[in-house]
Amino acid sequence: VVRFAEPLATFVLYAKVIDLIEAALGKIDALLSIAPLPQQAPTGEPAHFEVNFVDVSFAYAGSERPTLRDFSAVLPAHGLTALVGPSGAGKSTVARLLMRHADPQAGRILIGGVNIRSLPPERLNALVSVVFQDVYLFDDSILANIRMARPEASDEEVEAAARAAHCHTFIQRLPEGYRTRVGDIGGRLSGGERQRISIARAILKDAPIVILDEPTAALDTESEVAVQAAIDTLVRERTVIVIAHRLSTIAAADQILVIDDGQVLETGRHAELLARAGRYARMWQAQQRAKDWHVGA
Ligand code: ADP
Ligand code: MG
Repeated sequence: VVRFAEPLATFVLYAKVIDLIEAALGKIDALLSIAPLPQQAPTGEPAHFEVNFVDVSFAYAGSERPTLRDFSAVLPAHGLTALVGPSGAGKSTVARLLMRHADPQAGRILIGGVNIRSLPPERLNALVSVVFQDVYLFDDSILANIRMARPEASDEEVEAAARAAHCHTFIQRLPEGYRTRVGDIGGRLSGGERQRISIARAILKDAPIVILDEPTAALDTESEVAVQAAIDTLVRERTVIVIAHRLSTIAAADQILVIDDGQVLETGRHAELLARAGRYARMWQAQQRAKDWHVGA
């Protein structure tokens, strides 16, 4: 009995040891699979401001379907890239990922060769300006609303940014000029004026990378011309990503990315894509027939 029991006990002991090792390995595995830290060492400073999306896949939390699938794109420094495509294609998601409002599950996003995950959040924030469709103005003076982009800016710098964004004239007409409180004038600022304030913020911030989500709402012609002029000032010498609805912006872009269902379908300049007679050309023809140029939301 003893002779048989001994190997059995040894076997049981081995089995227990193996269990323990497996449990320990499981714990190590669990530790290793924890989501990466928001900031990874070593940090580096981008050498330039080209933006690279490399095989980026992303699904929103709780969503079965990925919003971006193996999305790759090079957004040239000092160049204007227009993102076009139908509503829900993933255009705004591209912008959100670049700002790290969320991180992709796979792939990398680089600024000047540096993974944005390895940049301190305040550094990334300083590198990227965003002009959204819905401009949030808080109840303070117009001056303070522009200055929030760079709190240490002087009054003169705020005014210079406002002039560059074609805001100065309408601000001067307000009851107390730059000191006018937004709450006191409420709805008296038009959509175009609010958007130009947002552009003034971006000009004041002076970040090398700018993301613009153009308005879909038809602006009156004067506003449209002023907004376009303000955008032209803002985008000089920067890496610009425009979620574009205007023909003028799209036609002038250095690169157009046609996005659908989270993937890049076509890339090229306006004339190249028209010549390709593909998706972009069909979208363009359809929009030419419509009264207002509008490619997506
Ligand atoms: P676009 O800007 O091209 O219209 P978005 O990038 O906003 O498209 O959205 C792409 C897809 O992701 C859509 O199907 C949308 O419903 C989905 N989506 C956007 N935001 C969220 C979110 N916060 N949670 C879950 N799904 C979202
Ligand atoms: Mg959008």
